[in-house]
Order: sequence, then structure tokens, then C-alpha cells
Amino acid sequence: MIGAGLAGMRVGINSMLKALRQNPHALETAWISFITFDSRAELKSPLQSIDEAQPPRLLVRPGTSLGSALMLLAERILKEVQRNQSGGAKGDFRPIVILITDGQPTDDWRSALRDLNSTVKIANFYAIGCGDDIDFAGLREMTDVVLNLHQTDEHGWAKLFVWISDTVSTASRGVSDGDEREVMLSKLPDVIEKVDDSNMPYSSDDGRARQLFLSALCGKTKQPYLMRYRWEPDYGVYVPAASHIMDAETCDFSTRAGAGLPQVNSREVDGCPPCAYCGNMSAGSCGNCGTVFCGSSRQPDGTSVCPGCGGILRSGGGGRDFKIKASEG
Ligand SMILES: [Zn+2]
Ligand SMILES: [Zn+2]
Repeated sequence: MIGAGLAGMRVGINSMLKALRQNPHALETAWISFITFDSRAELKSPLQSIDEAQPPRLLVRPGTSLGSALMLLAERILKEVQRNQSGGAKGDFRPIVILITDGQPTDDWRSALRDLNSTVKIANFYAIGCGDDIDFAGLREMTDVVLNLHQTDEHGWAKLFVWISDTVSTASRGVSDGDEREVMLSKLPDVIEKVDDSNMPYSSDDGRARQLFLSALCGKTKQPYLMRYRWEPDYGVYVPAASHIMDAETCDFSTRAGAGLPQVNSREVDGCPPCAYCGNMSAGSCGNCGTVFCGSSRQPDGTSVCPGCGGILRSGGGGRDFKIKASEG
């Protein structure tokens, strides 16, 4: 997840934990675990009581490895959620899964979903999409409860997490009553809409990624950032949407060099968003190492020093045909 969504989510998770800690039922019965997924899936914290749970560190990284996340989820549920024992001892309540995503899956999630459904039992699976690039049809294949967070500022996120807190609290009351009935959907706030076949947002079926991410280095600061593009079907090109500062500590060299990011035909990319650090409106790529970098690397004599490999590039020479120019109007 990237950009504004991430900031809102950090605040939202904090307030959710706070709300759950003030709820005696939740405090007694609800446990929580966090898994993040970007270029890979990562267990941020194992299943813990609400008391012990800490908000996960969320980092800006490209990719939506939903399949890996579902596999990790199945693995953790098998390991951490106690099933009913044959001797009659009651196991844990079935888990509630809340999936929040702002992108299109970038790996094979369907086989992971089949494995998940065949190995573990989940009480409720809520899939929540936020932003413009959600594959809602895909989310509908995952679960009946697909929600669209259409207000993605901090207020929207706050309301979403209040709703999640309510839902978890309701579920935890169900447990203490010894009642295994299905968890009811708490009343949705106005910023969330339930998505079904009648109001499915537009979703292209040509298999093309609606978002494109290119990792780049600033020519001035040598720091990594992400250039985000949006597919413009009417023109058949990716147009610049925004740049996002990438968390440097998590940005290994393979990510810098563009490995793991989708291959893109340069003719399908029109222009570039301004550098997230220095605001330079142009960018180019290194013919030696493939690094994409902002135009601040340009020297007065017209050459550029690649911030990736240190190679000196002549203007119009070295770079592959990665024509990135300032976008027009
Ligand atoms: Zn720059
Ligand atoms: Zn280079």
C-alpha cells in the first residue's frame, strides 16, 4: 500500500486497538494478528491478545502479493487457531479475516485461495478495497462481503476502523455467549459501500494492470522513490499519477534496480510524475544497470551520472528507449 492510504491506515489501526482495549468483551476474547503484503507477504505480528498487540510498522513498497498473503494466512491459522478437540474441549472461535487492499493482485491468488478454503475454516472474510485501482470482481471471487472504502482521507479511514472495532466487538460477544452463529455485519458507515453485482465499479477485463509502478532514484539525493502510473484506456498509455517516497531501509538493491516490477514497453508510458524528493519533472534510465532516475542527475555539460551504478551517461546516448518526458497538460 502506498501514499495517503498508508497514513490513514496507521492512525486507524491505533484507534482500533485503543477502542478494543476499552471493550471488556473484546479484551477478554479477541486476539489479533497482522499480515502485510506488497512485493512479498510478511507476518508483522503473530496472534496476540488485544492487550499485547502493537500496531504493525507499515512501509511504502510496491506490489500486491495477495496470493502469498493468503498462503501465509492459511499457515498461521493452522498453527495458531485451536480447533475443537475430539475429547470435547472447545477450540477457538473461527477467525474473522479483514483484507484491506489498494491495488490489483500481482501474483497468482486463485490457487492460494483454493488452498486456504480447503485447509482452514473462517467465520467471516471481509475484503475492503480502497482507491481507484481495485479489482472488485476478483475480490468478489474471494468472498461475498466486499466493501468499497470510497473516502480515503483520514476521516474515511477512521470510520472504517471504528466499523472494524464494532465488528470484532460483536463477534467477541458471540463467543462469550457460547453462541456460534454467524457474525452479523455491523451497520456500515457512509464512507463504505457494500459491492455486489449491481454496483460493481468498472473493471477492465483485458488482464492489463491498471496501475504501473516504476522504482527510481533521485539524481540529487540518490534516495529511492516510486513513480505511479495509471492506465488510460482511451489513449492506450500509462499516464503519470504521482510519486511516493519509498522507505529506504526496506528498499534492497534488487528493488532499486527494478527487479520484480512489471516489465513495461516504454511506448506505453507517457511522461513521468515529478521526483518525490526534488520535484524534477524529467527522468531517464541507465543503459548499464537499468536504474531509472530523475533529471537532477544531469550535469551542466549535458552528461548524467547514474545514481545506481555511477556510470556517466551522455544525453540521448546510453539510455535504453525509455522515453520519459514531462507530460503535456
Ligand atoms: Zn530528484
Ligand atoms: Zn547505472
